[in-house]
Amino acid sequence: MTTKKKADTVDFTKARLVSTYNELSKHLADSDDIISRLTRRLQTTLDIKHIINMFVEEVGKLISFDQFEYSCEKAGNYITSEKRAAHSCSYKLKLQNDNLGEVSFTRSKKFKEEELAILERLMGTLVFPLKNALMYKQALDASLQDALTGCGNKRALDAALSREAEISKRHNHPLSIVTIDIDHFKNINDQYGHAAGDDILKQLVDCMSNSARKSDLCFRSGGEEFVVLLNKTNEVGARIIAERLRLAVTKTRFVHSDKIIPVTISLGTATFRNNETVESLMERSDKALYKAKNGGRNRVVSAEVRERKEPSTSTATATATATASTSTKQQSA
Ligand code: GH3
Ligand code: MG
Ligand code: MG
Repeated sequence: MTTKKKADTVDFTKARLVSTYNELSKHLADSDDIISRLTRRLQTTLDIKHIINMFVEEVGKLISFDQFEYSCEKAGNYITSEKRAAHSCSYKLKLQNDNLGEVSFTRSKKFKEEELAILERLMGTLVFPLKNALMYKQALDASLQDALTGCGNKRALDAALSREAEISKRHNHPLSIVTIDIDHFKNINDQYGHAAGDDILKQLVDCMSNSARKSDLCFRSGGEEFVVLLNKTNEVGARIIAERLRLAVTKTRFVHSDKIIPVTISLGTATFRNNETVESLMERSDKALYKAKNGGRNRVVSAEVRERKEPSTSTATATATATASTSTKQQSA
């Protein structure tokens, strides 16, 4: 009698727990397969975007979501879609003291407890491959960066120049370069010390970055020499930008240990021709810079001007065009 009474009793709370448990254990069995496959797949690459893509693809097989977002200070943002829904769950990924960024899943339906448990298990497969990929990216970035000034180094310049030359040819966009050398830099070192020279190099990069467009890329090609890549810029534009950089340097107060150090730069510009190599472009720009040095320093020389019939008139035309285009811009702004 007692046994029968007990058997008749229906415990809804317990029933819900049992059914949840069954669902969860089925999902966990599925997730075991996915976890071992995901672990294998994530070991095949050091590319952050690739890792995130694989992760999103495998998680999507178990749990539905509308949007996935990964953001990390060291790696930027990765978003699967712009769709924003009401419910989201976010996780901060940390390994020892390393911050690996934050992931979040968003959808219109609330996430169930068992789904969150699965997500957390899957997240466990992500952290080590992600940490390796972030370290790899850091090493890669450092190998392309000049340690003193923070701008791109010679390797980065070579890679960027080849890339920009390809784009320029494919889309028929003009591409120009500016080669820059600090005037009498040896004297600055001799007079104020090597540390002051280093400081001037850093201040010069700041000054040029502030005077260039966002799309202009600045590289330290050697000791006190720099190259600025100007995409979508013809010879007149290159000369205008080079002149702007020269003027900005003359107007900047370079200070080291409370001493004002006068700094000027000489610049050569060259514009890419369809039938030339990037080496030839660099060579022509270097030659123009050499002429600027020989012409008295603190000046801009364009490699293209020599080819014109009347060099002095051409320079004047370039300056006049510069003035006209600047005032047009100001009117429309
Ligand atoms: P010019 O106007 O003809 O260019 O004269 P310059 O004195 O600038 O040219 P030169 O090539 O004779 O000297 C360049 C100097 O730049 C010599 C070198 O010691 C110095 N230099 C190169 N790299 C660095 C660096 O990283 N830090 C410092 N402080 N000096 C450097
Ligand atoms: Mg030099
Ligand atoms: Mg120099």
